[in-house]
Amino acid sequence: MIARMSTLFVRTLREDPAEAEVASHKLLVRAGYIRRAAPGIYTWLPLGLRVLAKVEGIVREEMAAIGSQEVAFPVLLPREPYEISNRWTEYGESLFRIKDRKDADMLLGPTHEEMFTLLVKDMYGSYKDLPLSLYQIQNKYRDEARPRAGILRGREFKMKDSYSFDVDDAGLEESYRKHRDAYVRIFDRLGFEYVIVKATSGAMGGSASEEFLAVSAAGEDTFVRSPGGYAANVEAVTTLVPEALADDDAPAAHVEDTPGTPTIESLINHLNEAFARSDRPWTAADTLKNVLVTLRHPDGTTEPLAIGLPGDRDVDIKRLEGQLEPIEVEPMDDVELKKHPELVKGYIGPEVLGEESASGIRYLVDPRVVTGTRWVTGANAEGKHVVDLVAGRDFTPDGTIEAAEVREGDEAPDGSGPLTLARGIEMGHVFQLGRKYAEALGLQVLDENGKLVTVTMGSYGVGVTRAVAAVAEGTLDDIGLAWPRNVAPYDLHLVATGKDAAIFEAAEKLAGELEAAGIDVLYDDRPKVSPGVKFKDAELIGVPTIVTVGRGLADGNIEVKDRRSGEKSEIALADAVAHLT
Ligand code: ATP
Ligand code: MG
Ligand code: MG
Ligand code: MG
Repeated sequence: MIARMSTLFVRTLREDPAEAEVASHKLLVRAGYIRRAAPGIYTWLPLGLRVLAKVEGIVREEMAAIGSQEVAFPVLLPREPYEISNRWTEYGESLFRIKDRKDADMLLGPTHEEMFTLLVKDMYGSYKDLPLSLYQIQNKYRDEARPRAGILRGREFKMKDSYSFDVDDAGLEESYRKHRDAYVRIFDRLGFEYVIVKATSGAMGGSASEEFLAVSAAGEDTFVRSPGGYAANVEAVTTLVPEALADDDAPAAHVEDTPGTPTIESLINHLNEAFARSDRPWTAADTLKNVLVTLRHPDGTTEPLAIGLPGDRDVDIKRLEGQLEPIEVEPMDDVELKKHPELVKGYIGPEVLGEESASGIRYLVDPRVVTGTRWVTGANAEGKHVVDLVAGRDFTPDGTIEAAEVREGDEAPDGSGPLTLARGIEMGHVFQLGRKYAEALGLQVLDENGKLVTVTMGSYGVGVTRAVAAVAEGTLDDIGLAWPRNVAPYDLHLVATGKDAAIFEAAEKLAGELEAAGIDVLYDDRPKVSPGVKFKDAELIGVPTIVTVGRGLADGNIEVKDRRSGEKSEIALADAVAHLT
């Protein structure tokens, strides 16, 4: 196809928009891809929509390749399913809530686990129907506290979200692996540098979870990696020091032997006993949302577990039974821990235990039972959830709680070398949800023996609009956008310069020939615009190849320039189509 600059709905700007902080945001607005409608809410212009469509195309192809089927849910959703899953409450202020004319509560979907679970429950009932993978590409709504960087963090944004449904854990593993592989292909094709890091599961619950981060100084996530291949979001390695539990009023706990293989119940019992002996008031430390625990069995095998704590202040640990979900963490034994004093700080003090091990490492419960504990996210005194929990800033410490930062040069938890810190943009997230939503919403199927079993799920997201910004951010230079071919709005930017009618005729003809050869051409056919302005626009818009028909035409030549490298060459007009296709 051919688009003409004379009629294309675009106005390039020479000045940066006042509200823009990040380079991609400035350039996407200046080059006429997007336009702000309200904070965190953007209108997509023709150029922007074309890039978005390319990203969506890549995502659709890779989803189809793993057999995932596309559906489309409404954005406007009823409260009930989110009430059942508790996310109506958990999402807090991030949820856009509305009322219909009958005063019923509704919301704008922030993510769709509940709806997908109910849909499958509605339609399927047998193990023979599974495995199943469904996805949609749809606008999501989150009232982000700090919408920033334009479409990088919007309050309305497009996400590809998919969900897998399996009858057993092995099936979930396989579905997860397929999705992870598909994401590798998607992000390879999008053409930016990314890392796959261990992540915490946060509000989603569930176990294994990894993020795909685009490596970028503009990112809001910090991750660590080691030469030996360890990579994790710092959220997943940051430890907090719940010293509040080690003060004088802390529960006078003692550790009892746990005979046999420790179970979640035995761990809970330890905690229950410890807390029951105390009439100490609850502190911020108690409202930490997830405690990650690695259990070690007597035979030496380890079992990572997470205990999710509700966000309110009068936590009754007993209430937590049934809410436990395993979360993958690095197994860490005594010896390993000794090498990482900064992680050791995250352990509940000996007062809870009544014991300190010979190595000086403090254990949550019996040292033979628990080898690791990490506090990952927390809540402030008002029960409001934060991440990056910082004492004094996010809550008033009761006792002392401090974040033990992971530092550059620290040894990786798996001993694979010194950690380096870098920033990244979260582009995709894969979760093994497990049975949390299926259980809450009653998604069961009959297994081979005619027994009802609860389905196990995965959830997988790609930030589609965010990807547009991330690709822009990762490829731009100081003169403008510089799209990789896979997502560029056009393949070729054809510029006609000069006043000579012959130039415009030749350019017009070339545009037609390139179009016939399957090339999408953006043709700058504006008759009264100076060459300088045209070149500036071409550089700003960032189509990968810029072809100029101008002065050289007298000798039968045109100029071909690579937008990214700036390399130029003269080629004969007669060879142009062969050369450019
Ligand atoms: P973040 O940590 O950046 O807030 P998230 O962990 O809340 O993201 P998920 O719930 O994992 O996001 O959603 C899946 C994907 O959707 C993310 O990996 C990201 O690419 C994208 N995404 C999430 N929030 C936004 C947003 N506000 N604007 C644009 N894309 C977003
Ligand atoms: Mg978020
Ligand atoms: Mg995140
Ligand atoms: Mg995420």
